[in-house]
Amino acid sequence: MKIVLATGNAGKARELGAMLGTQVTVEVVPAGFVVDETGETFFQNALLKARAARGITPDDVLVLADDSGLAVHSLGGRPGINSARYAGAEATDDDNCTRLLDELRGTADRRAAFVCVLVALAADDTMTVACGTCSGQITLARRGQGGFGYDPLFVPDGRTDAMAQMTAAQKNAISHRGRAARQLACALGVAA
Ligand code: IMP
Repeated sequence: MKIVLATGNAGKARELGAMLGTQVTVEVVPAGFVVDETGETFFQNALLKARAARGITPDDVLVLADDSGLAVHSLGGRPGINSARYAGAEATDDDNCTRLLDELRGTADRRAAFVCVLVALAADDTMTVACGTCSGQITLARRGQGGFGYDPLFVPDGRTDAMAQMTAAQKNAISHRGRAARQLACALGVAA
């Protein structure tokens, strides 16, 4: 099976490629692939990306889109679907982490959860959907150099290390994306 990942996010592509790459050939959409994320849910935005990539992908290749983000309890679920743009349209991961630390300064309730929705779309419009979550706590400062996005600020429940302090394999074993990818692989009949 061949899969094209409908993402320009290098962190997502690296993780999904590593998790799905054993039985399938995984490629990434051509550079410059950008989709207006006008949906109101993770699922709607994942579907927008999948449809956009479907339009430029050969029929024998499955398209896979990821929409994901961080929902912070004391912020009423923000930044949620706006996680990539939390500190502004052109925000870097570092800008977003700084804004989160600023917004939570003095807040005792640090609960949060990562959410990932994966949508696989075949040329005949057959759709397979998977969802994964990972709950944890937002740290008081950055920790670690690995991963991407908010990983330096997120300690999963039951762990003491932030996600950015884990190896890729350790993160994938418990992450929202890892959980969604294993569910999707099972639904597609390939081993993750
Ligand atoms: P999307 O491209 O709209 O799905 O944005 C996803 C954003 O959510 C990323 O840019 C990160 O800010 C955040 N995010 C999603 N998954 C992860 C993760 O595994 N680690 C850290 N941040 C993540």
